[in-house]
Amino acid sequence: MTNTDTVKYNYGECEICDTPMQERRISQDFWWRGELIIVKDVPVGVCPQCGEKVVRADVGRWLAKLMENPERIASAPKVSVPAIRFNAEEAAA
Ligand SMILES: [Zn+2]
Repeated sequence: MTNTDTVKYNYGECEICDTPMQERRISQDFWWRGELIIVKDVPVGVCPQCGEKVVRADVGRWLAKLMENPERIASAPKVSVPAIRFNAEEAAA
């Protein structure tokens, strides 16, 4: 199937609460070989009621392929994220 761009995928109903799923584009983060990777604009089905998420098989395959492509990951644009070390003194205060 290559018509996913033109035909809206039907995610069906939520397995948990039977609410019809809606497609959203999300940023999905992964840890991969000790590095945090963010994949933007990933189409997923989201339940508006309980927040359950489902990923289409073709999207899942694309993500799995991406994770097997270190060159593509290494050449992707970088963002910096806050990295904060746990502070036991603050926690005990
Ligand atoms: Zn639900």
